[in-house]
Amino acid sequence: MLEESRYYFNKAAKILSVASIAKKLLVTPKRVVKVEIVTESKEGGILHHLGFRVQHDNSRGPMKGGLRYHPSVDEDEATALASLMTWKTAVVNVPYGGAKGGINCDPQTLNEKELHDITREFVTEIKEIIGPNLDIPAPDVNTNANTMAWIMDEYSKHYGFSPGVVTGKPLHLFGSEGREEATGRGVMYALEMALEDEKIDWKGLRIALQGFGNVGSFAAKLMAEKGALIVAVGDHMGGVENPEGLNVENLMKWVRQNRTVDKFPGGNPMESNLVLTWDCDVLIPAALGDVLTKENANDVRAKIIVEAANGPTSPEADEILHKKNVLIIPDILANAGGVTVSYFEWAQNIQQYRWELEKINGELYKTMTKAYTSVREIARSHNTDMRTAAFILGIGRVAKATLSRTHFSNAKFDEF
Ligand code: NAD
Repeated sequence: MLEESRYYFNKAAKILSVASIAKKLLVTPKRVVKVEIVTESKEGGILHHLGFRVQHDNSRGPMKGGLRYHPSVDEDEATALASLMTWKTAVVNVPYGGAKGGINCDPQTLNEKELHDITREFVTEIKEIIGPNLDIPAPDVNTNANTMAWIMDEYSKHYGFSPGVVTGKPLHLFGSEGREEATGRGVMYALEMALEDEKIDWKGLRIALQGFGNVGSFAAKLMAEKGALIVAVGDHMGGVENPEGLNVENLMKWVRQNRTVDKFPGGNPMESNLVLTWDCDVLIPAALGDVLTKENANDVRAKIIVEAANGPTSPEADEILHKKNVLIIPDILANAGGVTVSYFEWAQNIQQYRWELEKINGELYKTMTKAYTSVREIARSHNTDMRTAAFILGIGRVAKATLSRTHFSNAKFDEF
């Protein structure tokens, strides 16, 4: 994934004429932390895990990014995802830099108490490098509002009441209205703008999703409310399809009880992986990275791909899909609704004031449309794709901020 994120960076940096020294500055993470986490297992034995936090850049504000609990978590993955956060926060123009991290573990094998202990131990190890003005973690794959509550509590033990140390907290514990569904809502807004551009109607639009967790489920719910048909969903255990459209509310209830879409009675079972090449108008990868590859890109049947997941498309797949005229709304734009409402949550924590849901969703809509329009304008003026345009916008903003903090501040960026 690291190589891939650098490939997309270099493609945009070339168009921006970023000099090699500036490239080095922008690509190298500010800090990489790897810690050992030792806790007690339910049987009374020892659990041993490695935790990571990569802080990529803070030239535009405190660093911001999710925490993932998954067997794939390592330094390379966290570094790639941290850099994507830097460009993403710049694309939506929220006053943050980028970070990412997590714990290399298999949460399916851990109970609630074990996850709780591991999380608190992780905070003990990284508490000096996170904080409301330093680095603010948020939920990602296999972490949720509960995880954020544990982090806030552990951090506050050391530094006093600090709700702004994490976002994505429970609503009753300094969380924000609208945060839980924010990423899915932003994905829906991004698709809505693409549909307007392409003059396509929501009604009867056939959508397939990989992943039905926080992001995938809320995106599906909001899109179905617009009139789209959710024709196939795959997750880590199985898949389900229904050409008439799945009942998303019922599927959400099923997943809350069973932790998978597998065996949902409201559709026909399917092999999970087939969802990527399913017969549909729009494909939404909303699970893990590197799922669209040179092996399956030629078989993709969707005409639009909205990247709800981070880093789902390899550069080879990206090229194949463009040749097939597939419109790709890139991750650093499409899934930026989450970090946008995280920013609203953090701002409320600092102000010690609550915003109404209406205000949150209104501000989210404004932020997403502004970012989408800017990216589309760059794509048109540079005759390039939406991903490269989003990277141009993000890298340009970060480079400007980086330069303005140095004695090169009068230099034009392309002269640096
Ligand atoms: P989640 O843990 O709530 O859900 C993950 C989903 O992916 C689950 O449905 C799971 O079954 C599925 N999945 C896992 N492994 C799979 C596999 N091998 N094949 C198919 N499906 C698989 O996580 P989430 O918060 O919904 O995050 C999903 C993606 O969205 C991630 O790439 C994350 O980085 C990105 N993202 C999340 C947020 C957020 O606010 N949570 C914000 C921006 C981007």
